[in-house]
Amino acid sequence: MRVLIPNLGSTSLKYQLIESQNEEVLARGKIDRIGGPESQIISWEAKSGQESRAVAHVPDHRAAIRILVDRLARPGSKPNGGIAAVGFKAVHGGPHYCGSFLVNDDLLAAMQDFVPVAPVHNPVYIQAMEIFREVLPGIPMVAVFETGFHSTLPERAYVYGVPGEWREKYGVRRYGFHGSSHRYIAQRVPEVLHRPSDGLRLVSCHLGGSSSLCAIHNGKSVDTSMGFSPQSGLEQSSRSGDLDPFVILQVMVKEKLAPHEVGHLLCKKSGLLGISGLSNDVRDLDKAAAEGHARAALALEVFVYEVKKHLGAYAAALGGLDVVAFGGGIGENSWRIREQVCTGLEFLGLHLDSEANRRPAHGDRIISTPGSAVTVLVVYTNEELMVARETAKVLAAAPAA
Ligand code: ADP
Repeated sequence: MRVLIPNLGSTSLKYQLIESQNEEVLARGKIDRIGGPESQIISWEAKSGQESRAVAHVPDHRAAIRILVDRLARPGSKPNGGIAAVGFKAVHGGPHYCGSFLVNDDLLAAMQDFVPVAPVHNPVYIQAMEIFREVLPGIPMVAVFETGFHSTLPERAYVYGVPGEWREKYGVRRYGFHGSSHRYIAQRVPEVLHRPSDGLRLVSCHLGGSSSLCAIHNGKSVDTSMGFSPQSGLEQSSRSGDLDPFVILQVMVKEKLAPHEVGHLLCKKSGLLGISGLSNDVRDLDKAAAEGHARAALALEVFVYEVKKHLGAYAAALGGLDVVAFGGGIGENSWRIREQVCTGLEFLGLHLDSEANRRPAHGDRIISTPGSAVTVLVVYTNEELMVARETAKVLAAAPAA
């Protein structure tokens, strides 16, 4: 089954077309700078092996989706290029949609209800799901919620210390996010290490544009750093991460801010960007820190400290540690962050192989010493593959239309 996986940003649309049977990527591409005068359209097709690039004015997501669907419809192929399903890496569906589900009006209403909690992600996905329904009528669509992998959290890990009725009334609890990435890492680590996931105590570190850690036991999520919203946990590139709620109350009063204004500051002007006052990108911060920019160095130091602290907490939650896996744009590419996180964790039996960690390499690999009790890995996460698998699973279980 050919599953189209769109990945939507506020001004971008990336996609992959995956054949779910053999998990082959048939096509992929992206449309950047949607709404700007010159959008970049880049696409690659496995059959021809060719990449094509074009520049055009793509005014909005509707136009971008049309371009994408037209591109995938090849002469002679079935309508819509044989797209059999669309799978979305959806973010927040609230308490009733922690998993993977067919997209319908109830699901869209649940996502709408959680727009204030996921203001960066939910609106763009709701809009895209509606447009895809119009552009590809009759093609089934599945929302694979980022919260789904964490539906195994024990109550003690997801209940907050707030009035109990908030949970009933407003679904206030820890949900956790980056579910597709953590699920991939949970499945991939046992393959790389040739050992079963049963008994394995693993901490998955998804460090990227946004970051979270997940404690995984027997292949299942038992705790994770993000909570009610993707806003919490570690410092994100421009989102605050965990924060004493009374900071918000105080700043709102002092600066006379409305909820949406303080929300904007916490989403767009905080995290690595907020601390450094310079950039939300680890590459820029590394360079600036090396040149003596004190706030850039501090932003990185805070980030590393938070990752390390969560690792320690999850070692305690898991009753020990067998594997730490780094994924995401930072986890896969930054030997420096990996080194700084691991330094000082020798007391847990974790010994990084400094040379292996620094060696430029691509692919999933072990970067701890042979004698290290905790194996440290770099895993190139593959969220699209997880969405394709989940989509095929939901459709296989769905009653025929
Ligand atoms: P997203 O979460 O948007 O999908 P990624 O997981 O690709 O993003 O992570 C992007 C981030 O990864 C960048 O903002 C940057 O901080 C970091 N990054 C990417 N490449 C490198 C690199 N070579 N060295 C250090 N950090 C990097």
